[in-house]
Amino acid sequence: MSSTDEPATDYDVVVVGGGPAGSSAGVFTSRYGLDTVVFDRGNAALPRCAHLENYLGFPAGVDVDTFHDLMHAHAEEAGCDVVPEMVVSVDRGEQESGFVAATQEGRRVTATYVVVAAWYDGSYLRPLGDDAMFEMHEHHGEPEERFDPDYPDEDGRTPIDGLYVASPAGARSAQAIVAAGNGAHVARCLLADHRREQGYPDGVAPHYDWLRPDAEFSGEWAERDRWREWFHNEVGEDDVDDERLAELRETYVDRAFETRLGESEVEARAERGLQRLVEVIGSERVLDVIDDETIHEYVGTSLESRHG
Ligand SMILES: Cc1cc2nc3c(=O)[nH]c(=O)nc-3n(C[C@H](O)[C@H](O)[C@H](O)COP(=O)(O)OP(=O)(O)OC[C@H]3O[C@@H](n4cnc5c(N)ncnc54)[C@H](O)[C@@H]3O)c2cc1C
Repeated sequence: MSSTDEPATDYDVVVVGGGPAGSSAGVFTSRYGLDTVVFDRGNAALPRCAHLENYLGFPAGVDVDTFHDLMHAHAEEAGCDVVPEMVVSVDRGEQESGFVAATQEGRRVTATYVVVAAWYDGSYLRPLGDDAMFEMHEHHGEPEERFDPDYPDEDGRTPIDGLYVASPAGARSAQAIVAAGNGAHVARCLLADHRREQGYPDGVAPHYDWLRPDAEFSGEWAERDRWREWFHNEVGEDDVDDERLAELRETYVDRAFETRLGESEVEARAERGLQRLVEVIGSERVLDVIDDETIHEYVGTSLESRHG
């Protein structure tokens, strides 16, 4: 748990739905350091896609099962618990803020934030008691109640404190890559709100999940004082207590320096990135699709380089 020794909740964030929107949201909240669980089971749009050919980074497309495995491996690598259970209710907890999510399998977890990322069904949100979440629409000629995609604002915030919606999000749910981007955006808004709660003024509330090469820390930017100056410029006139502001500034600068990667670390991460990719896809599957000519070429080149 990120903030206190005695956790008030089981998780900081419950994400309901581990499709592109929810998995992406989980990666961002978890990488920031919020304890995140992604529940994923139930009606899904992604498996209805025959082959995903327009998700950037896969030149000849990717099959949906592989993409699903990659998304979940990524969420886990970022620190999320990914649990294949269906959430059947989200309600307010006993404390003033926070939520209790219950799954069909009988698990109950408490959390400070809930990110809704299940496209098709919102009925599990009924216990929160806000009828404005739902609207009637026509489905194959029959009236049907559904979650109103206009209930959240453009950034996924809702009238219920701590409740965010990454999906359904109208047109942004219609393509996988846009849904993933929207999940990331909503998570960043949640993180900005979380940081405001901690006292960060608006100018420095947004979090940038960036990793920076050494070059970004050259010249004046090698000095913590330059980063402190930048922080104060971004904050501008704000009435945060000086002592608290100094504390937040130091945390901010610490975090910035933690993003610094030396050349060897960049190389190590590049190698590990490819290794993980092959592990998730399955090395046998990778070898299966390499044609004989390429293997012979590779074996020839590697023997030549070994024996001169
Ligand atoms: C026929 C068809 C073909 C498509 N083809 C393409 C295409 O070629 N390219 C493209 O970019 N997009 C395509 N799409 C759209 C794409 O599938 C969506 O844009 C994308 O899946 C939306 O992501 P999402 O995370 O919002 O929702 P989903 O993919 O639906 O993910 C939601 C997840 O939540 C889970 N879930 C649901 N209810 C609960 C619950 N109560 N508790 C816990 N988990 C729950 C589901 O199991 C699911 O994994 C297609 C859609 C359809 C219907």
